[in-house]
Amino acid sequence: MTKQQIIDRLQSPDPAELFAQADRVRRQFCGDGVYLRGIIEFSNYCKRNCCYCGLRQDNLKITRYRLSAPEIIDAAKTADRLGYGTVVLQSGEDLAYTVFELCRIIEAIKKETRCVVTMAVGELSRADYAALKAAGADRYLLKIETSNPKLFKKIKPDSDFNARLQCLYWLKDLGYEVGSGVMVCLPGQTLDDMASDILLFEELALDMIGIGPFIQHPNTPLGSYSGDSYHNSNKIMVAVPGIDLTLRMVALTRIITKNTNIPATTAVGTIDKEGRQKALQCGANIMMPNATPAQYRKYYEIYPDKICIDEKPSDCQGCIQAMLASIGRHVAGGNGNSLKKSVR
Ligand code: SAH
Repeated sequence: MTKQQIIDRLQSPDPAELFAQADRVRRQFCGDGVYLRGIIEFSNYCKRNCCYCGLRQDNLKITRYRLSAPEIIDAAKTADRLGYGTVVLQSGEDLAYTVFELCRIIEAIKKETRCVVTMAVGELSRADYAALKAAGADRYLLKIETSNPKLFKKIKPDSDFNARLQCLYWLKDLGYEVGSGVMVCLPGQTLDDMASDILLFEELALDMIGIGPFIQHPNTPLGSYSGDSYHNSNKIMVAVPGIDLTLRMVALTRIITKNTNIPATTAVGTIDKEGRQKALQCGANIMMPNATPAQYRKYYEIYPDKICIDEKPSDCQGCIQAMLASIGRHVAGGNGNSLKKSVR
């Protein structure tokens, strides 16, 4: 598909055919099983100041927490008991955990559970990524957030687009299964940017692609930006609210990248209570139930009103099974490894 064709489909008046096509492609390449990845948000400390994220260092209104190594390993054991084939260890860029400590945690999880380990701890050196891999980490998630370097600088002023892209290439080279992704409806983001996002996914041959709507957090620089300015600068989009645009991005990403693992993100479930079901019906084949111990959940506030913060891990498991059954899908057994042939 050319960039213009992607743009046309992002703004077509009726996306029903797009969604149906994406659903067919998903069934053909991934089947009806949905893989679960239990996400353990183990620290909300962050050295960075991303303008969209509630964990940014300058947000003084957030209660900070860190899980100890035994707490993280316990959370992984719970995820394993709940049948999640993967644990995702996610945090802000927290310098308090050394790579040495993270390696010991990964080793313990690999020894004591059946789970595949995905790391999502931000930008590190190539040597650090190599150390985590040697300790047993199987996958790495690092969203590029936007493929437009200028917009990237605006929303991540203390990061560098090329440095983050370089991290993705290192991760691929080191033999990780690599996940990336973007936010949709960022201030100033255009349909052209979004089409470029999808073309970049294709170029990177990612194993996993997460797409979520940008959600304003009041205690961040982008907290007071009015969504209207986005719609005004992209007049054509007035009729397409954020949820719709996110679903179209999911659908087009499925159609173009075919067998990638694509999650129905928590963010899409936050802006629309049926959002995750809708995403699963237009391309997504992965769910990421929260596996963070209940007492910490409300503090991992990357954006407000995040779903599932009052639940404990076992509640999320039951809720997801019911959700999948209601749309004729089921939890898939196994770890849900990448379907891409290139993975070693
Ligand atoms: N520090 C890690 C994890 C970041 S939080 C890293 O840099 O990779 C995980 C993801 O949450 C981010 O990649 C971003 O896509 C998403 N996120 C953060 N704030 C958000 C917001 N306000 N709205 C929507 N998604 C957000």
